[in-house]
Amino acid sequence: MPNNKSEPKYQTTSNTIAVKQIPVDRPSSGSNSSNKIQIKEQKGVFQKIRTTMNTGLVLLFVLLPFISYGGRQAILFDLEAQQFFFFGTSLWPQDFTVLAWVFIAAAFLLFFVTVFWGRVWCGYLCPQTAWTFMFVWIETRIEGNRTKRLALDKAPWSSNKILKRLAKHLTWGLSALITGCAFIAYFIPARELYLDIFTLNASFWVSAWVWFFALCTYLNAGWMREQMCLHCCPYSRFQSAMFDGNTKTVTYDAARGESRGPRKRKQNTELGDCIDCNLCVDVCPTGIDIRNGLQYECINCGACVDACNETMEKFGYQPNLIGYFSENALKGKAKPVYRSTKFIGYGIAVVIMFIVIGIDMNGRSDIQLSVIRDRQELYRETVDDMVENSYTLKIRNKTQETRYYRLSVDNRELFKLSAQQELVIKAGELLDYPVTVRANPLMLPGTPSPIVFSVSEVGRDETAVFQESNFFGPIFMASCR
Ligand code: SF4
Ligand code: SF4
Repeated sequence: MPNNKSEPKYQTTSNTIAVKQIPVDRPSSGSNSSNKIQIKEQKGVFQKIRTTMNTGLVLLFVLLPFISYGGRQAILFDLEAQQFFFFGTSLWPQDFTVLAWVFIAAAFLLFFVTVFWGRVWCGYLCPQTAWTFMFVWIETRIEGNRTKRLALDKAPWSSNKILKRLAKHLTWGLSALITGCAFIAYFIPARELYLDIFTLNASFWVSAWVWFFALCTYLNAGWMREQMCLHCCPYSRFQSAMFDGNTKTVTYDAARGESRGPRKRKQNTELGDCIDCNLCVDVCPTGIDIRNGLQYECINCGACVDACNETMEKFGYQPNLIGYFSENALKGKAKPVYRSTKFIGYGIAVVIMFIVIGIDMNGRSDIQLSVIRDRQELYRETVDDMVENSYTLKIRNKTQETRYYRLSVDNRELFKLSAQQELVIKAGELLDYPVTVRANPLMLPGTPSPIVFSVSEVGRDETAVFQESNFFGPIFMASCR
């Protein structure tokens, strides 16, 4: 196997990293007159993994709203009712800290994975990548492979070109419309939504939101594509801060590949293993040449790895001239047991976040209780020399079914509740419940005296929620006691 080690292209001293100016005339070969990248479709191990993950992600996104649980849509952000239904759990605005923790945990998990595998999220799971590759797949089925598409771009307008373009844009439009519906279906019951949209019976605002997201999808996946990754995504800008010497990223083995140059199969040559076929550039969705070194534009999709491996196989060379390598592995350094502070730090942060989510979920109650004192009068004196205070209890059943509750106050020797104490509250209902509490003013420890209301499910004391308020009586009674 030819392997020229004569003149390393990327020279460093032990203390400095050579800065290399990369030409910015992107895209280098996949371009047409409009500078649009025409991606070559590639098959291979990593593309199989990516396609499977992307397909799963798209199907999951579209189909999840159609799953029912307990007679309603299993996952639904009901904006009107201000509830988030997730199978048997209902989250109310005051429970949304859990969602915040989930997002923070997901961010740390992403950072943690990035330390290991670089930008695999971008290449394999990011919706931008999934939808872009889906639109490229549609384009390839209608207009043909990359060569045919480049030719079609350059060809003058003809009936054939118009028909192909029309078919492509209509299919893109339909896919974008389904994506818009799929997104809004997380906020509006899915079955009615699709029916209303496709029969043109949806209300103005529902239609407006669906078409807005459809338009965004069409522009993003059909036209902007890599521009989103290059210019709009903040993650590409700070991802390298998470890398360490053992992070695996798609890398070209320059020591093995250089000096590059074309040759015939089985031809003996002094050149390196790169035959300069440019396939790795043709398949790249961001139009870069990975042989120029690590670049922020690389989304780690592995298309160039598969493309290069195909070439290596044809020429009888070892695979992985381009591969998922770490900087240390390329230098022949052994993987250390202790990776880096970042790795430990992100790992600890992920564990802490999951503990916080567990505590938050565990401390969540299915009953919401707030107590509002009557502001009209501090207290009333009754004919039997007692004092009365009035309150309005706001009790919400946060579950998805009708429940039975028991209402009580602490210190029952002192406070007497004059109200029905067993209540029935429907699913999600907020009950405004006026109550009166009586007490012997001579027994009051002071004024105001603390009073604690509690509500629990009948037969399940462990579900009780408590809310403290004040009980007022005559001041002289308190001071003369
Ligand atoms: S350089 Fe390779 S891994 Fe990076 S985006 Fe291009 S094809 Fe994907
Ligand atoms: S695909 Fe491999 S052999 Fe072809 S140009 Fe790229 S690195 Fe060189």
